[in-house]
Amino acid sequence: MSSTSEQFVAHWIDGAAVIPADSRTADVFDPATGEVARQVLLADSATVDSAVAAAKAAFPAWRDTSLAKRQSVLFRFRELMEAKKGELAEIITSEHGKVLSDAMGEITRGQEVIEFACGLAHHLKGEYSEQVSTDVDVYSLRQPLGVVSIISPFNFPAMVPAWFFPIAIAAGNTVVLKPSEKDPSSANWMAELWKEAGLPDGVFNVVHGDKVAVDTILTHPDIASVSFVGSTPIAKYVYETGTAHGKRVQALGGAKNHMLVLPDADLDLVADSAINAGFGSAGERCMAISVVVAVEPVADPLVEKIVERMKTLRTGDGRRGCDMGPLVTKVHRDKVASYIDIAAADGATVVVDGRDVVPDGEPNGFWLGPTLIDKVPTTSRVYTDEIFGPVLSVVRVASYEEGLELINSGAYGNGTAIFTNDGGAARRFQNEVEVGMVGINVPIPVPVATFSFGGWKDSLFGDTKAYGVDGVRFFTRQKAITSRWLDPSHGGINLGFPQNV
Ligand code: NAD
Repeated sequence: MSSTSEQFVAHWIDGAAVIPADSRTADVFDPATGEVARQVLLADSATVDSAVAAAKAAFPAWRDTSLAKRQSVLFRFRELMEAKKGELAEIITSEHGKVLSDAMGEITRGQEVIEFACGLAHHLKGEYSEQVSTDVDVYSLRQPLGVVSIISPFNFPAMVPAWFFPIAIAAGNTVVLKPSEKDPSSANWMAELWKEAGLPDGVFNVVHGDKVAVDTILTHPDIASVSFVGSTPIAKYVYETGTAHGKRVQALGGAKNHMLVLPDADLDLVADSAINAGFGSAGERCMAISVVVAVEPVADPLVEKIVERMKTLRTGDGRRGCDMGPLVTKVHRDKVASYIDIAAADGATVVVDGRDVVPDGEPNGFWLGPTLIDKVPTTSRVYTDEIFGPVLSVVRVASYEEGLELINSGAYGNGTAIFTNDGGAARRFQNEVEVGMVGINVPIPVPVATFSFGGWKDSLFGDTKAYGVDGVRFFTRQKAITSRWLDPSHGGINLGFPQNV
């Protein structure tokens, strides 16, 4: 039985679709038509309990499965994903709205982490010191945590879960994933792919839901860790509640990413980059550029170049080869659009108003075209809030120092970029900026899977980033063994504290 039908998106527990009687549900929309496509089930505590119980039961056997066998399942998962990713891209586009090529890009970046986890044996190696004391050796092991949970946002329904589950599973943990209720079907597609790849039932489970499911996860005695990605207020709540219940928590939050443009930069490259990073995925990326900080005198010529390019963008149904799709829901679309009125009221200049867009799509889709707002006061909510839509602000500053001060004074510290041809200025920026991921002439500096992803300040609660070596550390705990194989001639009683001799 497929876990996503015409009507329902079911939970996936112990290797099978589960549809409890009398479940609460929520609408899942096709954002390009505005129609309700299906209903997603919203788990109550008992359903979460059954997913955790399945993961707990599967843990001992999976932990004890040899690393070689675990990795062979990952390799098969990677190959199946490669062969079938077109199906997944269509699911993403139909529920999130992003254009198909962008959905494929998201899958490719998620696959990077799967490929990293295919080589996890290297990262799980322990250390060994011989003869630290007479006839005593010390070595370390990395062991799985047990049942780990992932709570993910709507904007990357495949990639964000894939930041975590490949490493968690390769390391021997079992997983309960709670995806966003706005675009839930990608998680089920991946769960079914795991089964096809030969992952034992119960190792990867999906429960759909809202705050009820999240709160059950955060307080559940059998869940060892929480990997959360979403908005800052919820990330903070998840971090505080999860850690108060004894869990290891990494909670990645929201963002407001600035691009600093120095006067010597190549303005054509900057304009291209601002368009791609500002309007790709309709601005619904945590690494989207939402503020261009233009060091004068570049603002006027740069705004002109950005506007020229905006005229060429096609907004519409992501299945029709457009550049930019709809927003995820009508509620979100209306909230994002409301910032255009706020901008005007706060004295900013609305250069391009996305509400005037003529989309290539159904009239009831959740459309908002690319929007450009110049001379945004830094006191305006357009500047201070994470808008999370296709609204690009321009703030004009007099110097590098003023731009840096602006970036460093913000609450978030997820991503940033500098555009310049001056290597010394770029090097100074990488040293001085208080942001976790920095691009130098690269507008969306999402680190490759061998590094780790995560911001600073209100963009990350916890001290471990996602994937890479941080991911290995998060999903394992270290054990140190001190060992002595007694020679029969040794012995004797000594109640003193062990000393290294
Ligand atoms: P969200 O915070 O609304 O939801 C994230 C998850 O939390 C979902 O699974 C949702 O069901 C759950 N949730 C929502 N409200 C809750 C509540 N009151 N109590 C408990 N759980 C709750 O975020 P979203 O709108 O799905 O995603 C967009 C946000 O995610 C943006 O702020 C974006 O910047 C952020 N994001 C951050 C990163 C990063 O790496 N830092 C990556 C992607 C997205």
